[in-house]
Amino acid sequence: MPTATAPPFVPAREAADLVPNLTGLACRECGEVEEVGLSHVCGFCFGPLEVVYDTDAISAVVSRERIEAGPPSLWRYGDLLPTLSSDPSHRVDLQTGLTPLRPAPRLAERLGLSELWLKDDTVNPSGSFKDRVVTVALSAGRALGIETFACASTGNLGNSVSAHAAAIGAPAYVFIPADLETGKVLGSAVHGPNLVTVRGNYDDVNRLCAEVADDTGWGFVNVNLRTYYAEGSKTIGFEIAEQLGWRFPDHVVAPIASGAMMVKIDKAFRELASYGLVDGDLPRVSGGQATGCSPVAEAFARGSFDVRPQKPDTIARSLAIGNPADGYYALKVADRTGGAIGHVPDDEIIAGIRLLAETEGVFAETAGGVTVANLKRMVEAGTIGRDERTVAVISGNGYKTVEAIADDVGPSFEVSPSLDDFLAQLS
Ligand SMILES: *Cc1c(COP(=O)(O)O)cnc(C)c1O
Ligand SMILES: [Zn+2]
Repeated sequence: MPTATAPPFVPAREAADLVPNLTGLACRECGEVEEVGLSHVCGFCFGPLEVVYDTDAISAVVSRERIEAGPPSLWRYGDLLPTLSSDPSHRVDLQTGLTPLRPAPRLAERLGLSELWLKDDTVNPSGSFKDRVVTVALSAGRALGIETFACASTGNLGNSVSAHAAAIGAPAYVFIPADLETGKVLGSAVHGPNLVTVRGNYDDVNRLCAEVADDTGWGFVNVNLRTYYAEGSKTIGFEIAEQLGWRFPDHVVAPIASGAMMVKIDKAFRELASYGLVDGDLPRVSGGQATGCSPVAEAFARGSFDVRPQKPDTIARSLAIGNPADGYYALKVADRTGGAIGHVPDDEIIAGIRLLAETEGVFAETAGGVTVANLKRMVEAGTIGRDERTVAVISGNGYKTVEAIADDVGPSFEVSPSLDDFLAQLS
């Protein structure tokens, strides 16, 4: 009788290979540096904190070869992500990342672009790019001794925290607005977290979670673990460059909720350049929002860095953050790289979902519809040149937000189980 073989296990890295690489947490406003820990705001000015890397330690080990020899997940970039401990058991790994960079010739043609790629994060373990940030946040949290994990979520983050906490056997508390899509609610609940629906919008949920975090000491991935969490989004940028053959694209278009993803994609490109891993001009980085929640796009249109909070009203719930924490920094990235930040109404979001599905076979959630619709507008406006090698970040899976398209697509016709009936209706 043949013996069963265990499924291949790909270790995140050997213990000896994990190089702790942080020297502190620095305030993004005043520059004050604190110790690595469970802290997210500056003790002096309440500004947001950012991890400070030991760049000498990283330079000493990082190389294209070491990355290519690493696991087929985002942990191949572990040297460039927060590493708080050399104990590999702290690393949480559902094999997130290294998602396909798909050529999109049919969509490119429809949009009038000569070269378009899709960074397809619909295929991550819990169906969105949030698995990237959660993997990194939980790994840092475990190294800091956190036992209970939590988040304030617009849906996808809750799905990802629930899945990862289940996989490591940790208790989880997930806080979501009470009016989310069914797929997003059940996509968390199925993993058995403590799922708390809050009567309010995401900004209300977030405010509550800041208080709960202070009161309980739980590891809220996007509150007190946010400095580590946000670094996970860099892996989108790392992967794009590696998958293009260690080259930069000309232009990347991302969706914006808090703005952190867009900011960290740009940071990834600058890190690759600074470690000598990729040469060439840094990409332009652009962002998109739904018109019904467009505080960053609105500031961009005014030529201002001052983001005025809005009350969200859009089908793009995953992007519905009215008071985005990284909005200011997203505007800075657009400004520095020559990118832009646009917004698109709900009917164009639906059209964007359908255009992507019909041309490239990729079914995205509303955030993907925002990206495609925004890309379309930017090409039409000449903001993106037709010859720019462009990458669109498709950040979440359409099966989570079927409500968005339920009135627009459906069966072509219904028949009785008879060939005659089928042929009659076919003609
Ligand atoms: C959260 C989310 C985003 C935006 O991420 P930010 O880093 O908060 O800007 C984009 N797409 C999807 C599907 C998301 O869930
Ligand atoms: Zn400060």
